Amino acid sequence: MTTTTEETIAEVEAAAAAVDEVCACCGKAEVDDVKLKKCNGGCDLVKYCSEECQNDHRDQHEGACKKRMAEIRDRDLFEQPYEGYMGDCPICCLPLPLDRRKTTLNDCCSQLICNGCNYANKKRESEAGLEKRCAYCREPVPTTYEEVDKRAMKRIKKNCPVAMREMGRKCYIEGDYETALEYMTKAAKLGDIAAHNYLSLMYHEGRGVEKDNEKAIHHAELAAIAGYPVARHHLGCEEWDNGNFERARKHFIIAANLGYHNSLELIKELYANGHASKEEYADALRAYQAAVEATKSAERKKGEAYYEAMDAARQS
Ligand SMILES: [Zn+2]
Ligand SMILES: [Zn+2]
Ligand SMILES: [Zn+2]
Ligand SMILES: [Zn+2]
Repeated sequence: MTTTTEETIAEVEAAAAAVDEVCACCGKAEVDDVKLKKCNGGCDLVKYCSEECQNDHRDQHEGACKKRMAEIRDRDLFEQPYEGYMGDCPICCLPLPLDRRKTTLNDCCSQLICNGCNYANKKRESEAGLEKRCAYCREPVPTTYEEVDKRAMKRIKKNCPVAMREMGRKCYIEGDYETALEYMTKAAKLGDIAAHNYLSLMYHEGRGVEKDNEKAIHHAELAAIAGYPVARHHLGCEEWDNGNFERARKHFIIAANLGYHNSLELIKELYANGHASKEEYADALRAYQAAVEATKSAERKKGEAYYEAMDAARQS
């Protein structure tokens, strides 16, 4: 099915190249004093010699333009991202696990590191009787909550998108959705992928803002394209709810390939309902396992055991 879309895109691109040289409205060719401009609808199908020609041609071109824009959007949307949005731990260089509890975000430098590296650093410091410092930038670890907040505000003033998103997250958890929305909007504008996912959620739920499903999907798509599996999963669920099982399956496969378990589970369900083939499910399972395997190491295993024991002690 992917082939059909690809063939259509290739055909359209070839056709576009052929008409590229003349104004789609008046037929003028590009010569020294005539510069052709791309369609301002954003498509790559036609060019115009003037704004007038673009306007005159609007009614005739609108349908094709919209169709082409949807194709371009889908092509970007359904491309498997090279890696997850979190990338690698900057210390051990292995892909970061998707589970937030298996990572540590340092508020000094806004660097996310794996708990393997965090634990190794802690252990080394305590054995040598050293002062506690960030495993990444070596800043001393703050000892009071006031200090933590002061640091966060300092980074926010420096326009750090991660610090803004984390402050937004804090406000969100506390139920202050208006302030959360402000921080998330700023962080997203500065390129923070997780903030796009929060914005999607807030527009979807109508928290701190009026419900707006179109905006919810727009932010989810931006996050999904950048390799955010949760956002991708939500897009898949939305397609599923609308009965678009093929699109749902495509989303889930991409997220499962990034190591997202919930998506793998839904591919299994699609397979059980006849909306995914056995092969598709088997491939997704293999890719999922490989992605999860790539995040494992002996150091991380030690770190996870340590933090799990700490959590258990705190709860008992
Ligand atoms: Zn023209
Ligand atoms: Zn157009
Ligand atoms: Zn690491
Ligand atoms: Zn640091």
